[in-house]
Amino acid sequence: MINLQQIVSIMSKLASHREALEWDNVGLQVGDYNNEIKKILVALDINVQIVEEALEKNADLIITHHPLIFNGIDNIHSQTSKGRTIIKAIKNDIAIYSTHTNMDIAEGGLNDLLADKLNILNTKILSKENEIELYKLAVHTPYENAEEIREVLFNKGAGKIGNYSKTSFTIKGEGTFLPGEDTNPHIGKKGEIEKVDEIKIETVIPENKVDNVIRGMLKAHPYEEVAYDIYKLPYQSEFKGIGRIGELQNSLSLKEYSEIIKNKLNIEKLKIRGNMEDKIKKVAICSGAGADFISLANAKGADLYITGDVKYHEAQLAEALDLNLVDAGHFETEIIFKELVEKYFKKVKEENKLEFEISISNINTNPWSYL
Ligand SMILES: [Zn+2]
Repeated sequence: MINLQQIVSIMSKLASHREALEWDNVGLQVGDYNNEIKKILVALDINVQIVEEALEKNADLIITHHPLIFNGIDNIHSQTSKGRTIIKAIKNDIAIYSTHTNMDIAEGGLNDLLADKLNILNTKILSKENEIELYKLAVHTPYENAEEIREVLFNKGAGKIGNYSKTSFTIKGEGTFLPGEDTNPHIGKKGEIEKVDEIKIETVIPENKVDNVIRGMLKAHPYEEVAYDIYKLPYQSEFKGIGRIGELQNSLSLKEYSEIIKNKLNIEKLKIRGNMEDKIKKVAICSGAGADFISLANAKGADLYITGDVKYHEAQLAEALDLNLVDAGHFETEIIFKELVEKYFKKVKEENKLEFEISISNINTNPWSYL
């Protein structure tokens, strides 16, 4: 049995609450942390129809990208669609959990998946928003366990510096210890001083992954009492942010690449500002409404910027900057949220042998249609 508290903690490993922008409202919106969760429904948006869908499918939790409660609420009653949604959810014991800008920002989140779908390689952050402090971990392991422990550290989120992953430093040495009366030592005997060949592994961990890495390390370590140090690196940090910028393997004309965008994101009609014959190599993206970053994408040397929800005058700004711009739609650049969360939970379920179901909403919440 798994409860809502545990699901919330699993979700926060994919997109930590701490990574959301200051004005955002992410996390559990409605629900009882102690309730058992048997089935999760994943949707981009939340409204009464989605709650009804959850009811039909016997889901006890809806995970959405767009938060239900965003600018605060003054009342909950049947005259507003938000009120009706909350009432229906609470009456039927259906919880609602949302990720938003934390999912846009997260490594392996929405923008990384979008870049992946659009064949954009070597991606960096487009707009740096949050500074994440780095910690240094030094852990002692017996010689024969070092390789395994190092892999666990990396898998749990340690060892990333810039575009380098799995970074660590290893020193061989000799550890000494005297097992006390109530111990059950992995090596050595009670009451006898023991000297062991040990390996000290040093690696870095971003602030938001510290708990995860330490927990994983302690679980994998053979020692009863693990010797490790963890300390903050006061002058080192890494940035998290919205949007990505990277490159295509080979340059394509704007026309050719636009066909790929349509195909990969299932878009009927694409709004394009630019010269169809222009060669596109460096591409910036931002899922959802990212028109605020037109100048930034241009300043960072993008040949093309892809986002959604671009207004007329914002498109004129791109024109003035001579930047190719594609408005691929807010909905169309974010609907991939559903497959992202589904895939993540399937992996977590398998790895931890958890018992719950995951289902994808099939209600179309895009207010736009094309003729
Ligand atoms: Zn959005």
